[in-house]
Amino acid sequence: MGSAADRADTPLLAFDREHVWHPYTSLSAPSPVRMVTGARGVRLSLDDGSELIDAMSSWWAAIHGYGVPELDAALREVDFAHVMFGGLTHAPAIRLAQRLVDLAPAGLDRVFLADSGSVSVEVALKIALQYQRGRGRPERTRLLTVRGGYHGDTFGAMSVCDPVGGMHSMFTDVLAPQVFAPRPPAPGGDVEGWATEFRSLADDHRDEVAAIIVEPVLQGAGGMWVYDPACLQVMREVADEHGLLLVLDEIATGFGRTGELWGADHAGVRPDLMCVGKALTGGYLTLAAVLCTDEVARGVAASESGVLMHGPTFMGNALACSVALASLDLLQARDWRAQAARIEAGLRSGLAPCADLPGVTEVRVLGAVGVVQLDEPVDVVTVTDAAAEHGVWLRPFRDLVYTMPPYACTDADVARIGEAVTAGVTAAVPTAGMLA
Ligand SMILES: *Cc1c(COP(=O)(O)O)cnc(C)c1O
Repeated sequence: MGSAADRADTPLLAFDREHVWHPYTSLSAPSPVRMVTGARGVRLSLDDGSELIDAMSSWWAAIHGYGVPELDAALREVDFAHVMFGGLTHAPAIRLAQRLVDLAPAGLDRVFLADSGSVSVEVALKIALQYQRGRGRPERTRLLTVRGGYHGDTFGAMSVCDPVGGMHSMFTDVLAPQVFAPRPPAPGGDVEGWATEFRSLADDHRDEVAAIIVEPVLQGAGGMWVYDPACLQVMREVADEHGLLLVLDEIATGFGRTGELWGADHAGVRPDLMCVGKALTGGYLTLAAVLCTDEVARGVAASESGVLMHGPTFMGNALACSVALASLDLLQARDWRAQAARIEAGLRSGLAPCADLPGVTEVRVLGAVGVVQLDEPVDVVTVTDAAAEHGVWLRPFRDLVYTMPPYACTDADVARIGEAVTAGVTAAVPTAGMLA
C-alpha cells in the first residue's frame, strides 16, 4: 500500500501547497487536495487508507479504469518509448491511424496525431484556415461557433470557448474575435428558431468565416449542456451552403460516452474535421488526433506553404499510440454500446431523487454522463467531501454536480455513484434551518 509512508511524508503535501499549481487554482489560496497512492479497477487509493470510486474517470479519460492488464501490456510491448515523427514513422502510430480511420465517420481518412486535446483543436483551426487559403479565400480567418462551448485552454481554443464562462474578459485584446451563435436548444426545444438565428449569423459573416466548430450533442466543460441533434444537421447544411468546414470536437463525446460511438452519430452528420482525445488512450497517456477528409487535405496542400504547418515534439509518441490501440481494442471487445446503455439506465434511476432536492433546476442523463444542475454555484469542497463519505470521487464545477463513470463500473458502483451525487447535492444546498 505505502499509504502510511506517504501520509507520514507531510513535507510532500506542504511543498505541493506552496509550489505546485493544480488546475484552475491559486497558489496564494490553495484549495485542498487529496493524496493518491494507488489506482486499481475503478478505485483510487488515498493516503488515509480509504478508497474512492472515480466517478470522473480522471476527467473523462480513464474509461476502462486503472491498472488494466491489457493496457499495461501494451506499454511493455513497444520497443522504444518515443522517436521524433519528422522523417521517421513506426507501427504503433500507423496502426492507430488505421484504426481511427476505420472507426471514424466515413471519409475522415487523413490523420494528424497531436499531443493533447487543446493542441488538436489548434491544429484543426490551422487546417481550416490553410484550407481556405488553398481554396483562394484567405480573407476567411474567423470561426463560427455557439455559446456554451469548451475547446481547451490554449489561445486559439480559448477564442471559441463560451465568451462568458470562458476567460474572454481577461484576454479580450489577445483572443481572436470569433462569431458566436446562441447556445443550441435542448432536445425537443425550439430548433427552428435557433436555426433561423444561426443561418442569419452565418449569412452576415459568410465571407470572413473559415469553419464552424462545435462539440456535438453534449457541450462539456462549458456547462454540460445537452442539445438537439437536429442542430448539427442545420450546421452541416449551413457549412455546405457557404463552403465552410464543419469541425466537430469529439474530445469529450467520442468513444461511446454519449451512447453512440461519436456524438455526430446522433445526427447522422459527417464532419470535415474531427478532434479526438481524452479517452483515446484509456486515460494512460496524453494523446489526441485530428482527422479530416481528403478534400480538406488537398486544400491545405494548395495553400502557399504547401504543407500543414504544425509538428509538436511528442507527435505520434509510440507508448501513447500503443496504449491507445489497446484501449480501442478493449472498447470494442467489451461492447461499449451495451456498457453505455447500462450505465445510462443506472444513472437515470440513481440521479432521479436529485430532481426533488432543493436548489436543483435540472437532472440530465445522456449515455454514460449524468448531470445535476443547481440554481447557484456549489462549494466544491463541501460537495467533494460529502461524496467521499459515500466512497466516491466527484469534482463539481460552477453550478454542476456531475459524473462520467468509467465504463468498467459495475451496476453496484453506478448505484453508489448515484447515492454520492445525491449526497453531494444535498450537502450543497443547506436547508434554511441549517444555515442559521
Ligand atoms: C478537455 C477538452 C479539450 C482540451 O483537451 P486537453 O487535453 O485538456 O487539452 C478540448 N475540447 C473538449 C471538448 C474537451 O472536453
